[in-house]
Amino acid sequence: MSHDAIAEARRQVEICNACRYCEGYCSVFPAIARQRAFADGDITQLANLCHNCRGCFYACQYTAPHEFDLNLPAALADVRSESWEKYAWPGPFARIFQSSGAAVAAALTIGLGLLFWAAEALPSTGGDGFYAVLSHTVMVSIFTPAFLLPLVVLAVAVRRYWRDIGGGPVESGHLIEAAKDAVHLKNLSGGQGQGCNFEDEDRYSNTRRWLHHATFGGFMLCFASTSVATIMHYGFGLEAPYGLFSLPKLFGIPGGIALTVGCAGLALLKMRADPTLGSKSRWGGEMGFVLLLGFTALSGLILYAATGTSFVSTLLAIHLGAVLAFFLLLPYSKMVHGAFRFAALVRDAQVKPDSP
Ligand code: SF4
Ligand code: SF4
Repeated sequence: MSHDAIAEARRQVEICNACRYCEGYCSVFPAIARQRAFADGDITQLANLCHNCRGCFYACQYTAPHEFDLNLPAALADVRSESWEKYAWPGPFARIFQSSGAAVAAALTIGLGLLFWAAEALPSTGGDGFYAVLSHTVMVSIFTPAFLLPLVVLAVAVRRYWRDIGGGPVESGHLIEAAKDAVHLKNLSGGQGQGCNFEDEDRYSNTRRWLHHATFGGFMLCFASTSVATIMHYGFGLEAPYGLFSLPKLFGIPGGIALTVGCAGLALLKMRADPTLGSKSRWGGEMGFVLLLGFTALSGLILYAATGTSFVSTLLAIHLGAVLAFFLLLPYSKMVHGAFRFAALVRDAQVKPDSP
């Protein structure tokens, strides 16, 4: 991780520790107040607790032109996004994605989509629905390793992160407390529930919080849809395609809609927000991830709507290309922030004075 980013964040955190005006804004400031000195791992932990709500920047009396030149949201954003690269393996993959995310995601989606399109030319194995175009065996043999390997790489990154921030043995109470914060997105509420200033200084809004809820909830519903379909296929011999009122569709369709709306909204907010209060050099990577996730969901919905038409084979190739690109890029994209943020909340629960 760049020494400059850590050193700059440390300088600003030490000023905040003397000032403490923003103590009620989020969990970053109580965590700062518990310490006098900040090792590199401490700064990384604070960076991953921060949600970039920007409230502290607009409240601060030490921003430019004051000589302290404070911009805590940007300083922590730089460290945070560098931590996603530092702990990833191989690191250069993450660096490339963080700097040119949209281009990488588009190129990979198109390339993989073309491969799937070419694979569809192979003789049909006689399945129904999508499996008439590409057999179930081919899909499983491609997507099982493509799903599991990135999860292993992500687990290794979280382990490295946990070691660097000095994480201790995890108890169930820590996990429960962290899960409560994560599920409610408490720190995106601006401290008093009025929302954050992500879009504008004078505008308190919970829009970003609700869009995060839609994105996370939609993702979990899509995951539940795939899991249920797998159990139905292997456990009960009930093979796809499934009807509109089957469990995979009842989870998958609302999940896909929520994910599409959430990602589109987050991308719009990001375009409106001031880039100087985030990590400017990683803007492309963050946007690339949001667009890829949203496109994956949208292409799945369009594919379902086109069932029975002549567009299915082309749409299936596009959707599978997006899904595979998403999985392969998962450990190098902003998806890592969910795992690191949760680890940061667990660590915070461990060191709070009222910790279980
Ligand atoms: S961001 Fe500014 S106002 Fe807030 S605690 Fe830090 S120095 Fe004080
Ligand atoms: S940007 Fe928001 S979440 Fe980050 S330190 Fe400031 S108030 Fe806390």
